[in-house]
Amino acid sequence: VEFAHCGFPTTLGANLKKAGYEAPTPVQMQMVPVGLTGRDVIASADTGSGKTIAFLLPVVVRALEKPAHGVCSPVAVILTPTRELAIQIERQAKELVMGIPNMRTALLVGGMPLPPQLHRLKSSIKIVIATPGRLIEILKQKALQLDKVKVVVVDEVDTMLKMGFQQQVLEVLEQVPEEHQTLLASATIPKGTEELAARLVRDPVRIVI
Ligand code: AMP
Repeated sequence: VEFAHCGFPTTLGANLKKAGYEAPTPVQMQMVPVGLTGRDVIASADTGSGKTIAFLLPVVVRALEKPAHGVCSPVAVILTPTRELAIQIERQAKELVMGIPNMRTALLVGGMPLPPQLHRLKSSIKIVIATPGRLIEILKQKALQLDKVKVVVVDEVDTMLKMGFQQQVLEVLEQVPEEHQTLLASATIPKGTEELAARLVRDPVRIVI
């Protein structure tokens, strides 16, 4: 299988090629087609497996869908436990959306100054990449609305739990419309993680790498 034969919209296909991604990794091979159907996914996949592109491809394709009434608020929220992971996700997201109009991303993470992040939100953002604490801070200031979100990604669910972000993740999800798709990734899925995952998804497809 090669990405070139997957029928992605032109610019997205070209961007995959430009980034040097020719063939999907195993997690991408399983997660992308399921993600594109709109089903929820729980993937046990670790860093290095290509999981980021695996969840970003369905996110970008859904973000390409024509918005109703020219709405400009975010279509996707990607939650990840650390600033470093968020930066890596945004870098890969930018590779995928390069040259596609109206596909701006916002990086909303703690440990970096808040004002530039708030300023970024003054323009129309399609994909939010955030750590839970900073996102909640911004939501409390009403600087961002999640009422048009169609896809939620929770990355490294096991680390989220370990770092004590469970309540914050659930709090963010309360602001997302009931009808949304959820893509979860976790290196391992011990019992506690399974319990949190179960609260986030509906009838998920499970992918084990
Ligand atoms: P991740 O597991 O998401 O942390 O990704 C690990 C690394 O693999 C990242 O640096 C990606 O840029 C790279 N990568 C992801 N998908 C592919 C692919 N299909 N072919 C080659 N490299 C990839």
